Amino acid sequence: MALGQFIEENAKYVFNTYGRTPIMLIEGRGCRVKDSEGREYLDFVAGIAACSLGHGHPRLAAALADQAKKLIHVSNLFHIEPQIRLARLLVEHTFADKVFFCNSGAEANEGAVKLARKFFHDRGEHDRYWIVAMENSFHGRTLATLAATGQMKYRQGFEPEVQGFRHVAFGDLVALEKALTADVCAVLVEPIQGEGGVRIPPQDYLSNVRELCDARGCLLMLDEVQTGTGRTGTFLAHERFDFVPDVVTLAKGLAGGVPIGALLATDRVAQAFVPGSHASTFGGNPLAASAAIVVVEEALSDGFLKNVSDKGAFLGAKLAQLASRYPLIKEVRGMGLMQAIELAVPCADMVAAMRERGVLVNCTAETVLRFMPPLIVTEAEINEMIGALDAVLAGIREVPDA
Ligand SMILES: *Cc1c(COP(=O)(O)O)cnc(C)c1O
Repeated sequence: MALGQFIEENAKYVFNTYGRTPIMLIEGRGCRVKDSEGREYLDFVAGIAACSLGHGHPRLAAALADQAKKLIHVSNLFHIEPQIRLARLLVEHTFADKVFFCNSGAEANEGAVKLARKFFHDRGEHDRYWIVAMENSFHGRTLATLAATGQMKYRQGFEPEVQGFRHVAFGDLVALEKALTADVCAVLVEPIQGEGGVRIPPQDYLSNVRELCDARGCLLMLDEVQTGTGRTGTFLAHERFDFVPDVVTLAKGLAGGVPIGALLATDRVAQAFVPGSHASTFGGNPLAASAAIVVVEEALSDGFLKNVSDKGAFLGAKLAQLASRYPLIKEVRGMGLMQAIELAVPCADMVAAMRERGVLVNCTAETVLRFMPPLIVTEAEINEMIGALDAVLAGIREVPDA
């Protein structure tokens, strides 16, 4: 079947929920993917930060194949060895004492909201159910995570909204302090806003949020769905600061592209969930957990995270060089291998132009071009992407009124 026919059938049979690029990727190796017409691309989207080990990773593929032959799925009515091993790995290498597994970022955040409410309900504080989240944030597409998401465009049309969420400006401690009334159970915040445009808060912001939460007795929940699993150069993004969160949510990169979500918490908070409180049919199933074990072990292996930091700094420096030559780039920002340039114009055309030159990148928040390659990206691959970006920017400069 030709590509055009697949595109027609997609329109005919699949919900029209995505603005899809008119190509179909069929295989990949490392940071490269190939489409159905045989064209090769350098992949700086990585399934939106999901394919942390790149494509066709031999150890990840082998672990999936081995586990698939043994047992793909078994209910959480039984003990699950890969899930236990994964939870132990996460606990031994993070702030967390306990882990709950689910299947996506939205689900992990949904679980976090339930956990925070239940925590205070158990203490008899039944009216303490408000969550303070940030403007411009993104937490998922389920009803509660939409209510948490601080962007009207995602929420409109799905009213009535789930109650109990209020928003303050990201980075604004004065506004946060005002919002933290006695009915607030938790603050939910991304260490770096991903979908909102790779926005980095002031240096001491998260530590100060922790202090405010302590002063008001509410929980601090970090949405590390995008920043977690090594993306920013530490296993969890908050590790570069000197504080302990109460809850962290993970998903995207955790199982290298296999659907998974996780809710990490301290014992004090985790004990609010008891048998019957929360559950998931597929959460932490043998297949997904086996994949995540490989990803986490690789991410924690010698030099891996240092390499993410180094490659991220290299990419950031190269982007900054381009910014000094092209006024169209208003700002370069990022941490580790979560980097972006803010453009003076919408970036949709640039995404297409980069694709023409064999590089896949993603546009978020209209004007932000985001670079999130697999964590195993090489300097040569970064240089190749930068070369394409340079050529595309040079082309735009030639257009008189661009
Ligand atoms: C992608 C994302 C989510 C939603 O994850 P899904 O797996 O699509 O439900 C939530 N929070 C953040 C920060 C994300 O980047």
